[in-house]
Amino acid sequence: MSAQLLEGKVIAGKIKEGLKQEIQSLKQKPKLVSVQVGENPASSVYIKSQRKNAENLGVEYMLETLDAGITQQALIELIGGLNEDASVSGIIIQLPLPKGIDHRLVMGALAPEKDAEGMHPENLGRVLLGEARICPCTAQAAMELIESTGIKLYGKEAVVVGHSEIVGKPLSMLLLNRFVTTTVCHIATGERGVLPEHVGRAEILVVAVGKAGLIKGEWIKPGAIVVDIGINRVGDQIVGDIEFEQAAQRAAFITPVPGGVGPLTVTMLMRNVVTASKLQQIN
Ligand code: NAD
Repeated sequence: MSAQLLEGKVIAGKIKEGLKQEIQSLKQKPKLVSVQVGENPASSVYIKSQRKNAENLGVEYMLETLDAGITQQALIELIGGLNEDASVSGIIIQLPLPKGIDHRLVMGALAPEKDAEGMHPENLGRVLLGEARICPCTAQAAMELIESTGIKLYGKEAVVVGHSEIVGKPLSMLLLNRFVTTTVCHIATGERGVLPEHVGRAEILVVAVGKAGLIKGEWIKPGAIVVDIGINRVGDQIVGDIEFEQAAQRAAFITPVPGGVGPLTVTMLMRNVVTASKLQQIN
C-alpha cells in the first residue's frame, strides 16, 4: 500500500477537543433529543454511538422511543413540542421511518435551528447558497477528511459517486462552494457504463453507493484523494464500495472502511448540536 490512510478517529479526536471547550463556554448545557420510531437494528447501533459521543463531550442525550404505529400527525405534534421546549438544543429523527410516514414532511416540521442532521429544507438550501449553518453530517465528514490532506482544493477535479439527499447532493454543493470542478455520478452513469472514465479523472473521489467493490482499484487516478463512504456487510466483514487494496496502490490518500468516514459522522452531529445550541442562545 502506498496511500496515506485518512483515519476519521484521529481527526475526530482533534475536533472533539475543540467542541469540549466550546460546550463548557455555553450558558446552557446542550441537549440532543433522538426520536426513534419503531425498531431498526442499524439505527440502534447509531443511537448507541450518539449517546456515547454526547456523554463524553458533555451533551445531554435523550432518546424518545415511539411505537411504529404512531400516526404522521402525532409524530409532527411531538416534534412541535420539542421545537417549543427551550431545554432542547437539537433533534435527530432516526431514519428510515415506518411506511406511511412521509419523511420529507417530518423533516420539514423540525425547527431549522434545532435540526441536528441538517436535513431541513432551509438548512439544505443554505448549503446550496454557500451559507451553511447546520450541514448534513456525512457530507461534512467527507469534507473534513479531504481538507485534512492539506491539498489546495481550488480548481481540482472531483467526482462524487452517489446522489442521495443525505450524502452525495450536499457534498457536491460543499465541493462546488470551494471552486472544485465537481461531477456527480449515479445509477444512470453506472448503467451507461461510463463510471470508469469519470472515476479515472478524479483527483478527489468520493463514493457513497452501498455496493461492495463497485469501484475497481485500477480505475483510480494515481495520486487521488479517495473517500469511501459505503458501508457493506460481506460475510462477517464491513467493507466499502471501493476495492481497497488495489485502490490504495494508486491513491495518495484513502479512507479505511471501517474507521474512515464513520467515526467522523457522529462527531459532525455533535458539532451541529453545538451550533444549534448557539443559534438558540442568539434567538
Ligand atoms: P442511497 O441508497 O440513498 O443512494 C445510493 C446512490 O448510489 C444513488 O445516488 C444511486 O443512484 C447510486 N447508485 C446505485 N447503484 C449505482 C451504480 N451501479 N453506479 C453508480 N451509482 C449507483 O445512498 P446513501 O444513503 O447516500 O448511502 C450510500 C452508502 O453510504 C451506503 O452504504 C450507506 O450505508 C453509506 N453511508 C455511510 C455513512 C457514514 O457515516 N459512514 C452515512 C450515510 C450513508
